[in-house]
Amino acid sequence: MHEIQRHVLLNPGPATTTDTVKWAQVVPDICPREAEFSGVMRQIGADLLRIAHAPAEEYAAVLFCGSGSLGMDVCLNSLLPEKKRALIICNGVFSERAVEICRAYGLPHLVLELPETEAPTAAALEQMLRAHPDIGLVYTTHQETASGLLNPIRLVGELAHRYGALSVVDTTSTFAMLPLHVLRDHIDFCMSSSQKGLMSTSGLTFIIGRRAAIEASQSYPQRSYYANLYRQYSYFEATGQMHFTPPVQTVYATAQALREYFAEGEAAKWARHTRVFEAIMSGVESLGLRCLLSREQMAGLVAAVLYPQDPRWDFQRVHDYCYARGFTIYAGKTAQPTFRLAAMGAIDTADISAFWRVFREALAELGMLIPGAAADAR
Ligand SMILES: *Cc1c(COP(=O)(O)O)cnc(C)c1O
Repeated sequence: MHEIQRHVLLNPGPATTTDTVKWAQVVPDICPREAEFSGVMRQIGADLLRIAHAPAEEYAAVLFCGSGSLGMDVCLNSLLPEKKRALIICNGVFSERAVEICRAYGLPHLVLELPETEAPTAAALEQMLRAHPDIGLVYTTHQETASGLLNPIRLVGELAHRYGALSVVDTTSTFAMLPLHVLRDHIDFCMSSSQKGLMSTSGLTFIIGRRAAIEASQSYPQRSYYANLYRQYSYFEATGQMHFTPPVQTVYATAQALREYFAEGEAAKWARHTRVFEAIMSGVESLGLRCLLSREQMAGLVAAVLYPQDPRWDFQRVHDYCYARGFTIYAGKTAQPTFRLAAMGAIDTADISAFWRVFREALAELGMLIPGAAADAR
């Protein structure tokens, strides 16, 4: 194994991987239709269920080759029976993407539209569900990755179930980090992909969902050929294979990432992401910067930092300075201008201390204000 240059990715995925995960991709060529490869994928499926605390008799993990958005697409296009509507809780760019998917398929849907800084209340949601008994599926984004907002998935799931709807949760940016219990959290379907919380390479996406609901969906309108949940599920159940060519090398990397997940452990991993996040937040504070949301609103994985009030502030130049020194910061996607720092990936607090040193140096070198100093003077 020769050394690979280490980059600290503070963008919210793909995340920093360990070298052992990177090297796990280098394997002898194999035809993915071989039993040996099916065994690797079946183990991945079983491990994903364990992460979600999903009983294997009731839930299945369905794997696809694609990025995280494919999982959103599959759930929305596959799980809606005729004459039913989807309700999308929309408070950020990722739930907007879910609305766009509904539009693209011509799916009947309603949108509970909220500002990007607001989670839904039980009252607003219940009003919607009561007024529209044809809602068959409620779709929530666990963490809106642009703002870092945490949505109350347990409350949403409980209400969805009370009104006879499925609860579908986009856990792409929380899975394998923020502990998730599908039964306790009233989740029928959730999804994520290899390159985020699992700290693997990109290209493998997965849906964890109720077997009975997947089987029922066999008779629903088939809105996509390739991205159909039942087709992929039934093929995988029968053969242990994806219907079409899998991302072979990413599958091996993900098998390794899962071994590392269980070696680190659910609680220890979440504790690590939390201390990384606190290190990010204390740097934000000590520089006199501010976040779009209050700490209580955040999932504790992505900080959307408001641009400082400095006419000389130039995100791209700061990015380039940090990037050249091994730290990747990420542009914002919120109505108010922000940039993002994520506590994902195989990083720890020492990386964040090193990052803040470089960030401060960037401001000084590029002649930008250290906002803390300005705030003190006010
Ligand atoms: C990253 C992410 C996705 C998927 O994005 P891709 O670029 O398709 O991988 C979906 N939802 C959320 C909340 C995400 O953070």
